[in-house]
Amino acid sequence: MFRIGCHLSASKGYLAMGEQAVAIEANTFQYFTRNPRGGAAKELDLKDVEKYLEFAAQNDIGSILAHAPYTINACAVDEGIREFARNTMADDLRRLSYLPDSLYNFHPGSHVKQGAQKGIELIAQTLNQVMTDSLTTTVLLETMAGKGTEVGRTFEELQAILERTDYPEKMGVCLDTCHVYDGGYDIVNHLDEVLAEFDRVIGLYRLKAIHLNDSKNPMGSHKDRHEKIGEGSLTLEAITRIINHPLLKDLPFFLETPNELPGYQAEIRLLKSKRTE
Ligand code: FE
Ligand code: FE
Ligand code: ZN
Repeated sequence: MFRIGCHLSASKGYLAMGEQAVAIEANTFQYFTRNPRGGAAKELDLKDVEKYLEFAAQNDIGSILAHAPYTINACAVDEGIREFARNTMADDLRRLSYLPDSLYNFHPGSHVKQGAQKGIELIAQTLNQVMTDSLTTTVLLETMAGKGTEVGRTFEELQAILERTDYPEKMGVCLDTCHVYDGGYDIVNHLDEVLAEFDRVIGLYRLKAIHLNDSKNPMGSHKDRHEKIGEGSLTLEAITRIINHPLLKDLPFFLETPNELPGYQAEIRLLKSKRTE
């Protein structure tokens, strides 16, 4: 089954997101757990969650993906900034415990001038401080474009973080097509080889979600500027191969393209028309 959705605004709650997803012909969605620039989250409305869960079951919405605010930095130099990342992630995970089988995605972080090795250690340390035995959420590291001092551009860096975590069975990876292409992996001309590399370094069993984005920039640009599907350097042909690839087709796909809802709906229709089954 083709699981496809897009990033939605969480401002009106879970049920509203579920209804919006169905209205644009999606069967999953992504949302920010709180204001992407950080700050306090609204208290969880358990009535809304209950109504959403019922709606999701009736409408076959599954595998929704919560995205951490992108301003947290789990490997900052400053302990106060790392503490903020810890508190934010711990609070997000506590809230997600009300949404069974959630996926929680975060940007590993920027090591600033400490070097990737130190960054990797601090990210793993942060995870080990917020993950617990009772966790029912799968925590995903997102593949990054390698802008500035971002950790997680290479599969090796992601694997180094995974290896240092205390709950590897509750961890996975979210592959962002714009980011990996900007990061230097040629998923346009050598998709099979890139997936083989991912499998060799990390293991494909850890791949839990795809951020499906075209890119405004060429391969290896390290820019991270998302483009609408088929209007960027990835091209519709390569994106069609990605959504139909036997190793990827059963994963949930999330659009984070520069669109409002009608644009997302058009992309979802386009991509459905390109699915071979
Ligand atoms: Fe992201
Ligand atoms: Fe992404
Ligand atoms: Zn991005």
